[in-house]
Amino acid sequence: QTQEQTPHVAILPSPGMGHVIPLVEFAKRLVENHRFSVTFLVPTDGPPSKAMRSLLQSRGLPEAIDHVFLPPVNFDDLPEGSKIETRISLTVARSLPALRDALVSHVSRRRVRLVGLLVDLFGTDALDVAREFNVPSYVFYPPSAMSLSLVLQLPTLDETTSCEYRELPEPVKIPGCVPVPGTELPDPLHDRKNDAYQWILHTARRYRLADGIIVNSFNDLEPGPISSLQQEGVDGKPRVYPVGPLTYKGMTNNIEELNCLTWLDNQPHSSVLFVSFGSGGTLSSHQINELALGLENSEQRFLWVVRRPNDKVTNASYFNNGTQNESSFDFLPDGFMDRTRSRGLMVDSWAPQPQILSHSSTGGFLTHCGWNSILESIVNGVPLVAWPLFAEQKMNAFMLTQHIKVALRPGAGENGVVEREEIARVVKALMEEEEGKILRNRMKELKETASRAQSEDGASTKALVEVADKWKSQMCD
Ligand code: UDP
Repeated sequence: QTQEQTPHVAILPSPGMGHVIPLVEFAKRLVENHRFSVTFLVPTDGPPSKAMRSLLQSRGLPEAIDHVFLPPVNFDDLPEGSKIETRISLTVARSLPALRDALVSHVSRRRVRLVGLLVDLFGTDALDVAREFNVPSYVFYPPSAMSLSLVLQLPTLDETTSCEYRELPEPVKIPGCVPVPGTELPDPLHDRKNDAYQWILHTARRYRLADGIIVNSFNDLEPGPISSLQQEGVDGKPRVYPVGPLTYKGMTNNIEELNCLTWLDNQPHSSVLFVSFGSGGTLSSHQINELALGLENSEQRFLWVVRRPNDKVTNASYFNNGTQNESSFDFLPDGFMDRTRSRGLMVDSWAPQPQILSHSSTGGFLTHCGWNSILESIVNGVPLVAWPLFAEQKMNAFMLTQHIKVALRPGAGENGVVEREEIARVVKALMEEEEGKILRNRMKELKETASRAQSEDGASTKALVEVADKWKSQMCD
């Protein structure tokens, strides 16, 4: 080891912008505050999406962060209709040989010293690889501490439950959390025979092999689950470090994205509802129709990231991160665009969400309840309409409405579709009524606590220092 060696961390993100974005923010802190260098080793199942490339190849990233796209894995043998969790887990599992090769070339680089491998929630198969290279391995968990607490509890829950969780008569007890009805548990937990459930269970069992777990949440937001997770050593749990909220700073580098910010500049203060279903969420044709008419009937201003409908699944754009080939909105109701032209703007596929949420004209966010979107709303004090679609989003919506009380949740009819009248009612309530005002004030309080957590001597900053110090101590070995 020489004086000039830099501590280097290799990061293995699982597919999905919602996983890579907070890891990039984490990497930036390591580089800027702790003088690390970082390489993202990115598993793929085809050419990386435009959104992924522009994130990792952005000129705005510090030079000490680089990336390698690992060779695409082959999915020819995967049965049609395999769930997203299966695809994500397999992408990681099949990339392990390429990960080993990439690490060999890192270890041989003279000016850096590999001090850790960081994987995310679907990457626990790679923990063994870290051991082969004799470096500590950490899991970065992008969603809530509540869902981490559930995942760590899952092996026990699996052993002690004989039916499907959604059939349980009593709400499920998760350590440190308000009990959750089985119907609100994450999607892949609803069919225990499906491969997706088996993958989640397999991953969950392996969390305990990590040297530490870093979670993108903070004490004032989730005191119950965080304090329960931090009871070190109980059940052999690795130490948990809450470092959140680490939120996307975003980039606006194309005309359409800049246009929507200019449009916002011309709207009254706190008057616009931002509508977006994350990097890959999609609605059915019927549901898109109702949402359009509900927004119209609400008489509110809106900025809507619109994706082509998909009648089969709610995450159809997840693997290509929202990029659609054509930008026409011909699937929207007849005359809708003309009738709403003066107060609504539609954006094709991708919008500069961080800039929109921090804009003073934005007064509410109708969100699919992805955890990054929730944290981005919190740091900007924007109250929510909760419209969960897949993954652990229902559980997030439950937490936001029942526990933290910063969101309204429209009810679906028996056919599962949320009708236009209900949408208009909830949107109006959030944007105009006393109910919305209470949620907005609560969000403003949370915004303060988030900023405290990230301040120089805030709890999340200190937790990140602790992790960085652990890794740096490898340099002395
Ligand atoms: N995002 C964005 N523009 C879009 C859609 C998404 O910038 O049009 C960003 C958003 O700001 C967030 C991430 O992509 O940082 C989405 O993560 P989240 O956890 O909310 O949902 P997921 O995409 O994983 O379902």
